Amino acid sequence: MRDILVAGNWKMNGSSAANAELVAGIVAGVPKGSGFSLLVCPPFPYLAAVVAQADGSAVKVGAQNVSEHKKGAFTGEVAPGMLGDLGCDYVIVGHSERRALYGETSEHVAAKFQAALAAGVTPILCVGESLEEREAGTTQSVIDEQLDAVLDTAGVGAFAAAVIAYEPVWAIGTGMTATPEQAQDVHAHIRARVAEQSAEIAAKVQILYGGSMKGENAAGLLTQPDIDGGLIGGASLKAEDFLAIAEAAAQA
Ligand code: PEP
Repeated sequence: MRDILVAGNWKMNGSSAANAELVAGIVAGVPKGSGFSLLVCPPFPYLAAVVAQADGSAVKVGAQNVSEHKKGAFTGEVAPGMLGDLGCDYVIVGHSERRALYGETSEHVAAKFQAALAAGVTPILCVGESLEEREAGTTQSVIDEQLDAVLDTAGVGAFAAAVIAYEPVWAIGTGMTATPEQAQDVHAHIRARVAEQSAEIAAKVQILYGGSMKGENAAGLLTQPDIDGGLIGGASLKAEDFLAIAEAAAQA
């Protein structure tokens, strides 16, 4: 069966001192057991320090964004090879905040996804609908457009070394979690969409849920058949909160 991945997206939060305390707390409290892994995604300036601190522990480190370019005159951007060089295992691409606030299109996200893969960094592709889209009954078509852009560009084979995160935009940072059934429905749809091109890859790809996941609701979500972990914002900023989700993962 698929392992569970519990990933923390710190967004633009933290400081050297706060991060050191957070990572120490997480590393010290990793639940016993197997079948799950933990990942933290700090802001770019702190990646090297967090990689060094987490070295030798069960906690992996990823970035929150990446350029689609390998190198060159792209002021302010960070190349996928640089992330690999620093020791990052993962990178989040297409987070709804990047799509909504920075105008990233699905094509742009697909290019970033491919560039990360080519550099040996596992992309976590975020997809998800807004509240208006859900209410209009277009959830599946919105997700299909976001997913197909990557399937068409990178090919289904790329998903053998990638992760998908379903993050309903209306649930991110709002405290409004999707019910386990609502999330499971969309996760099953995503897996079926990948299975149209490869049943084998669909059966293996991890699909995380993101949107106000916390200790209290994690078990209900993580025990759904197509939910293979969580992408966690707010609750990843305190070791205790993050570890409560990790605990649910260890028991799922
Ligand atoms: C996120 O930003 O990916 C997220 C899921 O945030 P939160 O857990 O705070 O809803």
